[in-house]
Amino acid sequence: MGNLSNPTYISAILKRHDYRAQKKYGQNFLIDDHILSEIIDAADITKEDTVLEIGPGIGTLTEELAKAAGQVIAVEIDSNLIPILEESLFNFSNITIINKDILKTDIKAIAEEYNDEKPLKVVANLPYYITSPIIMELLERRLPIESITVMVQKEVANRMVTGPGSKDYGALSLAVQYYTTPKIICDVSANCFMPRPNVDSTVIKLTVNEEPSVQVKDEELLFKCIRASFNQRRKTLVNGLRNYQPLNVEREQAAEAIEKSGFSKDVRGETLSLKEFAILADNLL
Ligand code: SAM
Repeated sequence: MGNLSNPTYISAILKRHDYRAQKKYGQNFLIDDHILSEIIDAADITKEDTVLEIGPGIGTLTEELAKAAGQVIAVEIDSNLIPILEESLFNFSNITIINKDILKTDIKAIAEEYNDEKPLKVVANLPYYITSPIIMELLERRLPIESITVMVQKEVANRMVTGPGSKDYGALSLAVQYYTTPKIICDVSANCFMPRPNVDSTVIKLTVNEEPSVQVKDEELLFKCIRASFNQRRKTLVNGLRNYQPLNVEREQAAEAIEKSGFSKDVRGETLSLKEFAILADNLL
C-alpha cells in the first residue's frame, strides 16, 4: 500500500494545502491498509475493468484501484481536493478526476466515453449523508453497472440485507434486493478513519442482477406499493395503500387485492417479502 493511508502523511499533505476535512461532504478518510485490501479484493477488479469511484477524497482508495484496474474515473464534489488529488495521484496515467456532484453526473455517458458502453464497477467509501440517494440513483436508472462495492454506515448495510420481521426492513432493503444480490464483506471500526466518524461502518457488495429477482407486470406500481406500506409502517396494509396518494386506490380495491393475494385483511406491509409485494402489485392492476 502507498503512503496515502498513513495518518502522518495525510496530515502533512492536508497541512501543506491548508485543507481541513469538510463535515458537510461527509469526509472521513480511510487510514487502514487491511480494509483497503478487503475492498479491492471484494470488488474483484482486473485490468479489463473500468472503475467508477465516488468521492476519492485525497486518493487513498483511488491509488489502489488504479493499480488493479484498467482505468479509474473518480468523481469528487469538493473542488479544493482536486489539487491534492493531482499531487497524490501524479504517478498514474489511468486515472481521470471529474470535479462534480455524483448525483448530477451522467454515469451512462461515462460508460460510453470511457468503457465502450460496457458496464462499470462502482467502488467507493461513500459520504454517509447521501448514501441512500446515491444507491437508489445507481439502481433505479438501470445504469450500465456490474457491481457496487461500497463502505456505508453499518446500520445502512443491515437495512440493505435484511428481510421482514426486522425493524431495519424497509424500502431500501426491497429496492436493493430487487435489483441486486447484496453481500456483507466486513465490518469496519470508526478507528479506521481520519477524522473518526461517530458510527461504525460496513463494506457491502451489491452484484447487479441480470434480471430483477422477482417478475412483476408493472415495476412502478410495485415500488408505489412498497412506499405506501413503509410510509405508514404502523398502519394496516389496506390503510397504507388507500392513504398513499400516488397509488390512487379506493379502500375496496385495496382490500380486494389483499384478499386475492392470500394475505389476511389486517396484514401490515412490513411483514411482506419482496415476492409477496410482487403478487400484491400484480393483483392491484
Ligand atoms: N475515498 C476517500 C477515502 O476513502 O479516504 C474519501 C471518502 S469520504 C467518506 C467521502 C468523499 O466523497 C469525500 O471526498 C467527499 O468530498 C466526497 N463527496 C461527498 N459528496 C459527494 C457528491 N455528492 N459527489 C461526489 N463526491 C462527494
